[in-house]
Amino acid sequence: MTSLHLGLDLGGTNIKVVMLTRTADDFEVMFTDSVDTAAVEGPERVTANLIEAGRAALQRADAATLGLGVPGRFGQTTGRVVLFPNLPGAWEGFPLRDRIRDALELETWMVNDARAFTLAEGLLGAGRGYRAVACITLGTGMGGGLLIGGDLYLGAFGVAGEIGHQTVVPNGPRCGCGNRGCLEALVRSDVLASNAGRSSAREVFEGAREGDDRCVAAVSQMAEYLGIGLANVVAIFGPDRIVVGGGIAEAGDLVLGPIRDAVRRSVTLVPTDELEIVPAAFGRFAGAVGAALAGAIRA
Ligand SMILES: [Zn+2]
Repeated sequence: MTSLHLGLDLGGTNIKVVMLTRTADDFEVMFTDSVDTAAVEGPERVTANLIEAGRAALQRADAATLGLGVPGRFGQTTGRVVLFPNLPGAWEGFPLRDRIRDALELETWMVNDARAFTLAEGLLGAGRGYRAVACITLGTGMGGGLLIGGDLYLGAFGVAGEIGHQTVVPNGPRCGCGNRGCLEALVRSDVLASNAGRSSAREVFEGAREGDDRCVAAVSQMAEYLGIGLANVVAIFGPDRIVVGGGIAEAGDLVLGPIRDAVRRSVTLVPTDELEIVPAAFGRFAGAVGAALAGAIRA
């Protein structure tokens, strides 16, 4: 008995689409697609684009559930947007879940994009088969999530796993969340770029590969902060696998190598050779895969 599950991942630039096939004991990606978000045109236009992307997918295959990955916070029961910090327009209070559900006539579950990433990587990707998996995405911001025995762990208030919002430097730079010295505020891609005097993280990695001193120093400082943050995660959560995704992780061992070294230096209570820090498996479609899973596992 197979069933189909649609995932839509609302990003600042693209809406990613994934159709998953669920078989007796596994999931497979049936197809993927990507369309422009047109974020600058505001909530109505973005919602119309989500609906259009969903319709196009449903014309190709009939899904049983819809999972919607979103870049921010929302009311679990209301399905209304609380805060999409990186999408322009009047999103607060917007009834996004119900608008999508009514237009596509499909049961719809909303999930935060970092949690969707965690589901995808933890259940089907680089964390598959491990007991306790911590996932982070590194890019313009820093998302995180925890998976225990295949279940997302959200804690008493639904926000556990926000690995980027632990304080790493007392009275450090102001974070988007209001706190000072959060890990995210120290390792965001724009911070990395400005520390190295370059215009993007990609340029910093190119510079570091070519041996530019300032780029090498900026990457190693970022790895140092991430090493502290992840060592804290190891001490509190005890993962047997940490999955690192997002734009910054695409630099591969240039970033992951120093992070592994920094974690090893700080962790004393856990056998670090049994703890692997690995790159994500799904690339840019991880969020959409996870959104589809969020719908499927609640169905
Ligand atoms: Zn913060």
